[in-house]
Amino acid sequence: MALIVQKYGGTSVGTVEKIKTVAEKVKRFQANGDQVIVVVSAMSGETNRLLGLAAEVDETSPSPREMDVLVTTGEQVTIALLSMALHKIGVDARSYTGSQVRILTDHSHMKARIKRIDDERIRKDLDAGRVVVVAGFQGVDTDGNITTLGRGGSDTTAVALAAALKADECQIYTDVDGVYTTDPRVEPKARKLDRITFEEMLEMASLGSKVLQIRSVEFAGKYNVPLRVLSSFEEGEGTLITFEDTGVEQAKISGIAFSRDEAKLTIKGVPDEPGVAYKILGPIADANIEVDMIVQNISKDGTTDFTFTVHRNDYERAAAILTELTSTLGGEEIDGDDKIVKVSLVGVGMRSHAGIASTMFETLAREGINIRLISTSEIKVSVVVDEKYLELAVRSLHEAFNLAQDEVATVG
Ligand code: ADP
Ligand code: ASP
Ligand code: MG
Repeated sequence: MALIVQKYGGTSVGTVEKIKTVAEKVKRFQANGDQVIVVVSAMSGETNRLLGLAAEVDETSPSPREMDVLVTTGEQVTIALLSMALHKIGVDARSYTGSQVRILTDHSHMKARIKRIDDERIRKDLDAGRVVVVAGFQGVDTDGNITTLGRGGSDTTAVALAAALKADECQIYTDVDGVYTTDPRVEPKARKLDRITFEEMLEMASLGSKVLQIRSVEFAGKYNVPLRVLSSFEEGEGTLITFEDTGVEQAKISGIAFSRDEAKLTIKGVPDEPGVAYKILGPIADANIEVDMIVQNISKDGTTDFTFTVHRNDYERAAAILTELTSTLGGEEIDGDDKIVKVSLVGVGMRSHAGIASTMFETLAREGINIRLISTSEIKVSVVVDEKYLELAVRSLHEAFNLAQDEVATVG
């Protein structure tokens, strides 16, 4: 008998009909002799609808505590409906919100981290032959406040439950049948990967591939949870996220990730002296704004230009902080752009292959795409380009690196 955690995303439970289909699927696993814990998201569009309501009441600074009380209702609807659908087809099931399970988190509303999971109630239900249905994306802090885990957080709920209960597999059911070389909605020629390493999946997720929330991949890696991404609607093996060496020489590039959530800011003509980066980025960090890429230009006449990127949602706040700094730090002017995107090539095989970055730059140049910023690591190359070039950049790179071909054919 296996213990399986299954997570169904928003589109997979988007209508009552689809919830009934999920119930049938869960029933088949149980009939097979498996113990099943199901984690569900809110019905598709529901979380956004709730966020919209909050914005109508308070556009600028709604209380994070109340935001969490509000958005967790989405998942509460789905757990109840799925449990009822299971009852209707003769499956004993019980639903739990995050705080009922007791998924204990830290206190950071809207981006809480899971610290501990009480497995007592769940174990009792499983032992009694019940399917356990848990609301994704939510938990509770030590003061009893409801918290949420950040957008896409139901993936993390599922993996954390699988880790806590030492499940045999964590299955993430979604609206694509696995992890692809890039988002198949942007490049229809994208190829499904049968396997991807944790390291690569982590990089893809952190560079913007929203198929898995990054924290779910971190969790799975840390606690060794076998993790698989599959389609809710079709049969298939999906994609296994694995530690194992595939035995074949690694393809140079396993995928292309992109993020539309970028913005860039430049403070021009700041004095080029020790401590300047700290003076600029200190206040940004104090405002809890995460900085991604950082570039400092070569000094000219004792001054330099300093550029960095932030999440698009933080653009206005970061610009305001920089404007204030110019008076104390002495900078000439602030320049900014929030119509930029980041496109990244990811692959552990890059380590042993030279020339990846130059092929990337050559391809973009041929398409007339100007590169604004570049950042590299051992297993990725990222560029920032204008938003209007996103699709063209992804497709031309996909083509240039032969990602649509067979795995064997890309070995080189
Ligand atoms: P869910 O609601 O099930 O959590 P998400 O929308 O969060 O689903 O994630 C699935 C989506 O991720 C797909 O529909 C696809 O557009 C997008 N996606 C982005 N990058 C990739 C990729 N490399 N492989 C597969 N899907 C991807
Ligand atoms: N419903 C939440 C969201 O839309 C959590 C999730 O779907 O994973 O972000
Ligand atoms: Mg998701």
